[in-house]
Amino acid sequence: MNKKNLFALAIALTVIVISAEPVMAYTLLSPRRTWASTPITVRVYTGGNSTINDGDGGVTAVVGAIKAWGIISSSSTTQNAVRGSAPATIVLNNNGKVCTGSCLAATLTGYYTGSTIYDADVYTNTRYSYTSSRETDGCSGEYDIDGIMTHEVGHVIGLGHSSVSGATMYPSVSSCNYNNRTLEADDVAGKNDLY
Ligand SMILES: [Zn+2]
Repeated sequence: MNKKNLFALAIALTVIVISAEPVMAYTLLSPRRTWASTPITVRVYTGGNSTINDGDGGVTAVVGAIKAWGIISSSSTTQNAVRGSAPATIVLNNNGKVCTGSCLAATLTGYYTGSTIYDADVYTNTRYSYTSSRETDGCSGEYDIDGIMTHEVGHVIGLGHSSVSGATMYPSVSSCNYNNRTLEADDVAGKNDLY
């Protein structure tokens, strides 16, 4: 099974640290930072992914999936992502020129002032095929968009990667693996550390 990276910009150093300390659990983005208040507004751009056969290219599925964090106010939007301006926006049909190679999806985590996040947009690598919780034609070599975007929203709220295998914030996922849709104790601990 192919393993692809769930890549977040600006946290490459965190990944290196995890490799050296395999017993660590969740990490926070560095410097530590949070949105000013919750719930955090995250929008899903209505330009869906053409590989997802669920009626709207995964948009409705992702709007629902990211609520798993419990502190997200989500809905779809016809407004494409605007880098540096809220709301945080998930784009399913464009790699944003930041998510290529083995990257499945990437979150731009560089928009913060001091310890306050003011934007974080998410892009998707269109070279791969995806499935969703609303797709009914099975899975073969596809990656679960619900789980991938639950992972990326972890970056949106201020989390880095976890070394706990099976945690949603673990940095890679296999095709047809749906485990990232549900948060593990380690993911919840990271969220509760921040909010
Ligand atoms: Zn990641």
